[in-house]
Amino acid sequence: MTPAFEKLQKQLKQLPGVGHRSAERMALHLLVEKPEKLQALVKALGEASAAVRRCVRCGNIAEGEACNVCADTRRDASVVCVVEQVPDLAAIERSGAFRGTYHVLHGKLSPINGTGPDDLNFASLFRRIEAGEAKELILALSNDVEGEATCHYLTERLPAGGEVRVSRIGFGLPSGGGVFYADAVTLKSALDGRRDYS
Ligand code: ZN
Repeated sequence: MTPAFEKLQKQLKQLPGVGHRSAERMALHLLVEKPEKLQALVKALGEASAAVRRCVRCGNIAEGEACNVCADTRRDASVVCVVEQVPDLAAIERSGAFRGTYHVLHGKLSPINGTGPDDLNFASLFRRIEAGEAKELILALSNDVEGEATCHYLTERLPAGGEVRVSRIGFGLPSGGGVFYADAVTLKSALDGRRDYS
């Protein structure tokens, strides 16, 4: 292999779910077998990187200031489903079981991995609560120690007096797998069966 090839392979290998051999196959495919696809990919990457960003309100992906969910006035903005990652949001959207809005933390608290509160998208959530916009939080975080720590951190910092109702789903979801791996029926029953969290 050549130095430039290995550089590309190294970059591809850093992507989620891509191992050494997959990265090699992708690089060979683009550079040698189907070079005509390469320009289209480069163009799409450039366009997406210029257009796609985080929604300023909820952290979902957006083109412009607000994402599709936040921009939809038919959604109930007072009910906020808190998720770890954008694919969790997408899974709940596909289930069609939720008509509120979301907040994407972009991770969960994890001392072992060095993820602290400042690394997560908490600040804009607290702003939504302080502004009186969010009145109910549905915590849809993973059913593991880190998910539990994240729920705990969040509820500890809510205004006293209980104006914000907090519930949690996750009961019945695959242990440690979280929202993304659950099917639509399971997600719907998890949302319907959410329990008060305190
Ligand atoms: Zn949004």
